Amino acid sequence: MDPEITREKLIRAVRDQIECELLLGASWLPFERINNNPNRTDPDDNPTGQMTMAARAKKQVNEMDKRPMDSKQEKLDQLARVVAACCECPLHKSRLNCVPGEGDPNARIVFVGEAPGQSEDEQGRPFVGRSGDLLTNIIGAMGLSRQAVFIGNILKCRPPNNANPTPEQVAACSHFLHEQLAIIQPEVVVALGACAAQTLLKCKTPIGRLRGEFHEYRPTPDSAPIKLVATYHPSYLLRNYTPDARLSVWKDMQDVLKELGMPIPKK
Ligand code: SF4
Repeated sequence: MDPEITREKLIRAVRDQIECELLLGASWLPFERINNNPNRTDPDDNPTGQMTMAARAKKQVNEMDKRPMDSKQEKLDQLARVVAACCECPLHKSRLNCVPGEGDPNARIVFVGEAPGQSEDEQGRPFVGRSGDLLTNIIGAMGLSRQAVFIGNILKCRPPNNANPTPEQVAACSHFLHEQLAIIQPEVVVALGACAAQTLLKCKTPIGRLRGEFHEYRPTPDSAPIKLVATYHPSYLLRNYTPDARLSVWKDMQDVLKELGMPIPKK
């Protein structure tokens, strides 16, 4: 066994997974069957006076269920807890932290990248490495701040060695992003790079051909359409820091600002 895995970490992981299953409405957990058996006492009535882990998780979920879930922030927070306990693909084994995304739950613009890198994995925050610094500068050049937008990724856990996401990983994880976008309902989604654009638009068209026009994206089949702009990923700009590439991204961002009726800062 990995010596890094302590008893406390294991207990915490099991507890998180149980809470996740409860949030998702799991009916197979043993205490549900105990509750349905009239000959058994309620597991909350532990003679030691201590609540079992399952009872505590159930109590927390019951308390959450009683609260009105009308706040976008609450819904995003709840989704982030589910992501934190997710084991739907093998990437959960190598992550240090999951990276659900962050920003204004009422953002008009959401930036979507591909997957967390090393710095993001270490900090549990999206776009905080070199690419993140560049994205922060791009957002600043638009006259905005990171706090005024929402930033997320297609994958919530880092692929080892920053490998390209596999179709299986995208299939397992992308529903989280669709759910986040359904909650936020931004006016424009900026897809950073081919993986984000092709996943959201369900196409294989190269990024160069997706750029330069607004596309229609729906988080769910019943959702109102959201405008989507595809542009180059900041890591592409770092590798190809040419005036042409920078101008292309700036032109895409100007299109976003114009679409939203926002002023275009002078360069
Ligand atoms: S990458 Fe996504 S699907 Fe895979 S474990 Fe992380 S949160 Fe779950």
